Amino acid sequence: MKDSAHKFCLPKKVDSALELLKSSSFRSKFKLTDRDRQYIQDKGIETIKDHAFNFINSRIAPKFPNNDGKQTPMKGHPVFIAQHATATCCRSCLQKWHTIQKGRALSDNEIGFLINLIMGWIEKQIGGGENELIKQQQG
Ligand SMILES: [Zn+2]
Repeated sequence: MKDSAHKFCLPKKVDSALELLKSSSFRSKFKLTDRDRQYIQDKGIETIKDHAFNFINSRIAPKFPNNDGKQTPMKGHPVFIAQHATATCCRSCLQKWHTIQKGRALSDNEIGFLINLIMGWIEKQIGGGENELIKQQQG
């Protein structure tokens, strides 16, 4: 079965989704703590991306995720914060904000889009115009 809501995940789409999320005062309240930043620094951005992939795959991507609506803690990992900030925390938020319908498993493209969204948000949070962490990782 081919997914009718199939979309390509272009960086432009990620950017416009992040812009749209800024219009929500609820979403805008989520910020990384110093502890989250330290964690990202210690682990490295690629490891954080792996964590994001694992969380999305196990908690969000299934057709009917366990505990849907409550599967993403409000703190404890920078990716959790990013998920609330980007409305990728549960299937209701995905449906409302990203028009990804409930009741079916996510496609690889959709998972890729969510990961880009989460990592894009985290990079904006830690970057602050300098992007020191990213440069360190690449260097
Ligand atoms: Zn949610």
